[in-house]
Amino acid sequence: VDDHKLAEWDKKHFLHPTSSIKQQQEEGPALIFTEGEGIYLKDIHGKKFIDGLSSLWNVNVGHGRKELGEVAAEQMSKLAFSSAFATFSHEPAIQLAKKIADITPEGLNTVFFTSGGSESNDTAFKLVRHYWKLKGQPDKKKVVSRKKSYHGVAMGATSATGLKPFRDFTTSLAPDFYYVESSPEAFRAFIETEGADTIAAFISEPVQGTGGVHFPPKDYFKEIKSICEENDILFIADEVITGFGRTGTFFGVEQFGIIPDIMSVAKGITSGYAALGGVIISEKIHQDLIDLSDGLFMHGYTYSGHPTACAVALKNIEIIEREDLVANSKAMGEEMLAGFKWLQQEHDIVGEVRALGLMGAIEIFREGNERFAEPLSPKIVAESLERGLIHRGVIYEGADTLIFAPPININKYEINKMINILHDVLSVVEKNID
Ligand code: PLP
Repeated sequence: VDDHKLAEWDKKHFLHPTSSIKQQQEEGPALIFTEGEGIYLKDIHGKKFIDGLSSLWNVNVGHGRKELGEVAAEQMSKLAFSSAFATFSHEPAIQLAKKIADITPEGLNTVFFTSGGSESNDTAFKLVRHYWKLKGQPDKKKVVSRKKSYHGVAMGATSATGLKPFRDFTTSLAPDFYYVESSPEAFRAFIETEGADTIAAFISEPVQGTGGVHFPPKDYFKEIKSICEENDILFIADEVITGFGRTGTFFGVEQFGIIPDIMSVAKGITSGYAALGGVIISEKIHQDLIDLSDGLFMHGYTYSGHPTACAVALKNIEIIEREDLVANSKAMGEEMLAGFKWLQQEHDIVGEVRALGLMGAIEIFREGNERFAEPLSPKIVAESLERGLIHRGVIYEGADTLIFAPPININKYEINKMINILHDVLSVVEKNID
């Protein structure tokens, strides 16, 4: 089908996720992708792009991995799907559950499978409330998150998301969600006001992704974890982006020396080759659920533990381990940060730069700490696209931030290519500032 026809059908029949409907109607699809190989995507006209955000922070092992396609085809031909409800099971889910127990931090040994990050977080929120109900504390149900957080778009996940524009999309939200500033003091003050016996859990991304790649203040998580322990509040780490090597350790929490009670994962678990997520719980929670169960565990998705998705995840984790991609993420993250620092020297509009593994950001400033009246990120992102680099700009709540998360199998040469494109783009944009 020719691209004009595709563009027409796109406008008429395809409501795009997280998009501007108006822009889509006016301009049609900016790019129609057809292929991927390594860190590159190719569009319908054969133009190549560096996938500087691993698509949606998820294509960790890069594009075009034939063995992931083969393992999916093999599993689909053998047993594409069967139920895992009640006592039914199948080998791919069992093998993956065991593998996840092996690679996650100490004590996180049992996984509930979902189809993605939003379902993982909604599951975690229902689970912590179920847990406290079983413990005889049904009023312990508030969930506390941070103000620049993003936790997805299901009803609970939207309600837990600190970034207001995502909540403002709809009217009624789920009850009992609260947001605090990113300081231990703010959390302590919240507990004092509301009462620990009303708070079920605290949730945080180890590094905030959608909010603009923000690392927590030093020792923040250690303090938050001890406040949680003092007050019998469960700690949920949302590792949907940070899991599976993104930050230079297998999981983001490892950077901060804490072990959560619950961990949400998705994205990098399959590197996007199949839709899968999970909620991993501690041995203590698992044992309490067993000991205190008041009947059935009334929560499960049709695709919880989808055999094909699980087979893909297992192979994906095998690739991450075989190619030592966690170490590569750390090493190439350092290269990327060095590149950002060089850009900072070369360009007046580059303010703070930061990266942890292959999750990085460049702040755009007029001078010092003064932002441009009109953020420059959209212009920069458009110029990058012209030159074959895809990345994102964050402009919520006064930000003007470029964010990056290339595939974790990226090499030094490719990092340099990315930095050189950015250098050209920043030069052009700087020249046009009045
Ligand atoms: N949590 C975090 C930290 C995310 O970044 C995302 C997605 O970007 C989600 C949850 C939601 O995951 P999904 O889009 O797979 O539902």
